[in-house]
Amino acid sequence: MKLSPRKILTFIALSGLTFYSNAQETDQRLYEIIDEVSADSIEHDIRKLAGFGTRNTFSDTVSDTRGIGAARRWIKSEFENISSKCDNCLDVFYQKDYVTPEDGERIPKEAWVVNVVAIQKGTKYPNRYVIMSGDIDSRASNTMDFTTDAPGANDNASGMAGTIEAARVLSKYDFESSIIYVGLSGEEQGLFGGKGLAEYAKKNNWDVIGILNNDMIGNIEGVDGVIDNRSFRIFSEPIPPTETERERRMRRFYGGEVDGISRQLARYIHDHVETYMPEMNPMMIYRLDRFGRGGHHRPFNDLGFAGVRIMEAHENYNRQHQDIRTENGIKYGDVVEGVNFDYAKKLTAVNAINLASLAWAPPAPAKVEIGGIVEPSTKLRWDAVEGDVAGFKIYWRDTTAPQWQNSRFVGNVTEFTLEGIVIDNYLFGVAAVGKNGHESLVVFPSGTFR
Ligand SMILES: [Zn+2]
Repeated sequence: MKLSPRKILTFIALSGLTFYSNAQETDQRLYEIIDEVSADSIEHDIRKLAGFGTRNTFSDTVSDTRGIGAARRWIKSEFENISSKCDNCLDVFYQKDYVTPEDGERIPKEAWVVNVVAIQKGTKYPNRYVIMSGDIDSRASNTMDFTTDAPGANDNASGMAGTIEAARVLSKYDFESSIIYVGLSGEEQGLFGGKGLAEYAKKNNWDVIGILNNDMIGNIEGVDGVIDNRSFRIFSEPIPPTETERERRMRRFYGGEVDGISRQLARYIHDHVETYMPEMNPMMIYRLDRFGRGGHHRPFNDLGFAGVRIMEAHENYNRQHQDIRTENGIKYGDVVEGVNFDYAKKLTAVNAINLASLAWAPPAPAKVEIGGIVEPSTKLRWDAVEGDVAGFKIYWRDTTAPQWQNSRFVGNVTEFTLEGIVIDNYLFGVAAVGKNGHESLVVFPSGTFR
């Protein structure tokens, strides 16, 4: 964070030396990052990916011009190109799992489901990972059909191109935590790539901050005719599916029905977009995904990791999962002409600033507890956090409010009492604040004390 001397003096005068307490912190680097995301690069990459004809997970793997094999080799070479320009800052590799028709209803034959992973290692917390994903694979009308053209320009070359572009931009910076840029495969046949990488993360004991799954970030013309290049959706499930019976029982008495880890990640993204990209209209969607449909954040949620889906606000069903054709005057097919590159750039920037902020932030407090039953004040305590921590911020909001409404920086302490704030009337959380001003995700209390 850079502030002019005058601004610093103003803050000191206003806040009585508690520098962080009331100032709205902004980091100029996040504005730079927004500006560095290029619609032209994204357009180039979407055209390239759509040009592989089909990227069906079961399509050709030998050709260099057509099929998923050519697509993943090209994605890998793009990550390697980026890495060569940042002193090999990316560790690029394939992570793969073998699937057979016994593994699901939509698997026409045996094949490797291959993800392309690029890891930018953190300088301070290399085992903490924030992940951005797009999908490599595409599909035609019939998902079992792996030969018909399926350019998948929006679904999901847009998310894949955004992920490559975020790597290009963010690889110019150093981060304290690691960032993973990944192209996942096997999405259309049953979320196999996400499942494979989530299991890989678990097996390797990755400390996953969260995954920002990008699936369709380029369409601005809804099937109903609405045109909107400012709104987008952040899908998050309310609570993890891995919770225990005890946690479920506790929630009945202490709250937390809409305060799971994925929801906190969604709130974080929403908050950063409002601060840094005020022209955008982020929509918090209080559900795992679209009604009855899925995406690649889900296998991460299944294993207890935080994860959200970032997506356009207005879908066009004539342009997804459709063979290219014209019927009764209506054009079908997921072709490049249906993608708005400036909008995809905006949503890529949404990802980039949140990846950066999370990777610059200290770890969240591991354990937060709350007290204040039949008392006039609310008490919170938490575990200390190692690293360049300036202190902690307590957040609270009305029980019906979707976003955190109030916050107080309380310094580098591990307990605090909010005098006169009655526990019954609000929901509370605690975040760690780095010396650089960046904040961790908010942690909802998981225990109580008297
Ligand atoms: Zn799809």
